[in-house]
Amino acid sequence: MKIEDIKKLALSIDGDILIDQSVKNFNWFNIGGKAKVFFKPNSLKSLIEYLKLYASRGKIFILGNGSNVLFDDATYQGTIIKLGKNFSKITLLDKETVIAGTAVSQKKMSEFAKDNNISGFEFMSCIPGSIGGGIRMNSGCFKNEFKDILVSIQLIDFKGVVKSIPAKKIKFDYRSIELPNDVIFLSATFKGKEKNSLEIKKTMNDMIRKKELAQPTKIKTSGSTFKNPIKQTKQKVWELIKSSVPKEINYGDAIISEKHANFFVNKKDAKSSDMKSLINFVKKKVEEKKGIKLELEIVLVE
Ligand SMILES: Cc1cc2nc3c(=O)[nH]c(=O)nc-3n(C[C@H](O)[C@H](O)[C@H](O)COP(=O)(O)OP(=O)(O)OC[C@H]3O[C@@H](n4cnc5c(N)ncnc54)[C@H](O)[C@@H]3O)c2cc1C
Repeated sequence: MKIEDIKKLALSIDGDILIDQSVKNFNWFNIGGKAKVFFKPNSLKSLIEYLKLYASRGKIFILGNGSNVLFDDATYQGTIIKLGKNFSKITLLDKETVIAGTAVSQKKMSEFAKDNNISGFEFMSCIPGSIGGGIRMNSGCFKNEFKDILVSIQLIDFKGVVKSIPAKKIKFDYRSIELPNDVIFLSATFKGKEKNSLEIKKTMNDMIRKKELAQPTKIKTSGSTFKNPIKQTKQKVWELIKSSVPKEINYGDAIISEKHANFFVNKKDAKSSDMKSLINFVKKKVEEKKGIKLELEIVLVE
């Protein structure tokens, strides 16, 4: 991928192309170096144009709201794509069915569903990600997950081919979906159930309150660091960490939240290497003390 060619393309494409862009302000940890190329397409047309020219010549990472990622300190030697304004629309298809662009925030989606008397999206009110990130992670809370309301996903592969896949043909698991990494979700169709918006609002408020009691807020974190090892034990990962690791452990400014042991926090200026040292330390201790191999929930971008 020649930077000179990309700079030329930047002059004509419908979207923003930035070279050597810092990624710090694009993720909740507020950590990371730069992206060689940062591309924010405004439309599907410009996304296809970029993919056709460059996807076979360099690596690509799709970024949503950056609430579940840990960037490296070194420059990402490829393109970070963050979908722009044409991917932020929500449309009501019938009284229980909605189609949403994947750049829509989950919070906005839950508000839209409530305002239209559709239940099933309440859990999204307490997840800070986008619809795209929610699909990739099969995100969820309070026993609800994306898979419960997904009808179909519209996506594009790196060759620029657009497809629609019915959700019933996709295998979902706890915080994962069986689809290759070289696809970009464009929009998704969801089906909920009719319900009075006041009742929906009450459920949303209850969920938000419960989450605020259990998890830290207004800090630099990417949420749950590790997945709950549901196939190995009934114990929650925060319990395993709490009983295996001294809670005041730190690597530089990378620390463990006092409120929730599975939330790792950038106290001020943590480097990615600090956070990775903390992750490896916790992983090693839990394996030594409990015999359980933890799997990362957050996605490393390197
Ligand atoms: C305070 C806090 C609380 C949280 N609480 C919860 C919770 O209760 N439940 C829960 O499940 N998670 C929770 N999370 C984690 C996170 O918010 C979710 O995983 C969220 O759905 C990620 O969305 P995102 O847009 O931020 O994705 P990102 O972090 O930007 O990316 C995550 C993954 O999704 C992929 N991705 C993003 N958009 C697209 C797209 N359009 N096409 C293809 N791939 C894409 C990325 O490539 C990456 O692999 C929490 C995080 C924080 C910081």
